[in-house]
Amino acid sequence: MRLTAVSLELDSPLRTASAEILEREGWLVGLEPDADDVPARGVGEAMPLPGWTESAATCEAALTTADDDGFDAGSGAASDARIPDADTPAARHGVTLARADAIARADDRRLTDHLAESVGFPAPSPATSVPVNATVGEGSTAAATRAASRAVEDGYEALKLKAGSRPLADDLDRVRAVRREVGPAVEIRVDANGAWDRGTARRALDAMADIGVSYVEQPLPASDLKGHVDLRNELPIDVALDESVREFGVDRVLESGAADVIIYKPMVLGGVDRTVEAARRARDAGVEPIVTTTIDGAVARTAAVHAAAAIPEVRPCGLATGSLLRTDLVADPAPVERGAIDVPEGPGIAGDAFDDRVFE
Ligand SMILES: [Mg+2]
Repeated sequence: MRLTAVSLELDSPLRTASAEILEREGWLVGLEPDADDVPARGVGEAMPLPGWTESAATCEAALTTADDDGFDAGSGAASDARIPDADTPAARHGVTLARADAIARADDRRLTDHLAESVGFPAPSPATSVPVNATVGEGSTAAATRAASRAVEDGYEALKLKAGSRPLADDLDRVRAVRREVGPAVEIRVDANGAWDRGTARRALDAMADIGVSYVEQPLPASDLKGHVDLRNELPIDVALDESVREFGVDRVLESGAADVIIYKPMVLGGVDRTVEAARRARDAGVEPIVTTTIDGAVARTAAVHAAAAIPEVRPCGLATGSLLRTDLVADPAPVERGAIDVPEGPGIAGDAFDDRVFE
């Protein structure tokens, strides 16, 4: 296994629950046929995001252990014992992605087809592109309407508005102004990142239903599954959960009946394989899966595009995050165009597009 430390500069600081970060630090994982018992070269990315995944130090330790133990990707279940796991989702993401990339490359097909087939979605996946949403930040109403109209001119058909750090009246003004600006045909979503209490959330969702918001993401704190169940029962607007998935896991969220939509972050779930498998379980439960990144580098971001493409008729996903990086691993193999990302033809994630970063 080849491990390459990488760091990526963000274009502007990213606020997480625990800190503000300016740089992403992670590892590229390379697997090769002779050394690692895989059928072709494969590349993965482990890009931990503290607060969402293990720390960088824990991730590095897990990757180093997997490497020292002589990672054997070819021998199925026995080797899985050595794959970094539950407590180290970013490390697991990196190793399992490299393995899946190698298998798909050996089969001369796209990663999305490999993923779709392995969880029982139709394969080859018919998707050649994935729709994505544009994110509109929490600036002034004027800044939000400008950003929204620029996104719609650029071809986006779905907008995600951040909310929750200002008084509700201000948020509602901003969402109403964006709706007036973009007209009725553009999908508007709102992400409150768990900022509201139950009373505020009820008022917010009631008003946002009238504005034609399609769903509100994480209106209440991550731990309040019951509150989300009540909102779903009482108000005619969909509830999406994101932070609650990190806290409780996919299965408990599905069982709780607290979500119409679940936000899947492959780096947090521990891999694109788990993401597509969990999306399948969501669909079976009548819940819509949406795939987003944790502002990863080009390898993981492009792999997330393949994961989203494996989900039949997936709704717009949160994958337009490459522009948040000032520096990236390679030139973007899957850029956004007219509000969508074309799925690279592979084989694997993007053929040999990343090999120079890992094997030379
Ligand atoms: Mg969110």
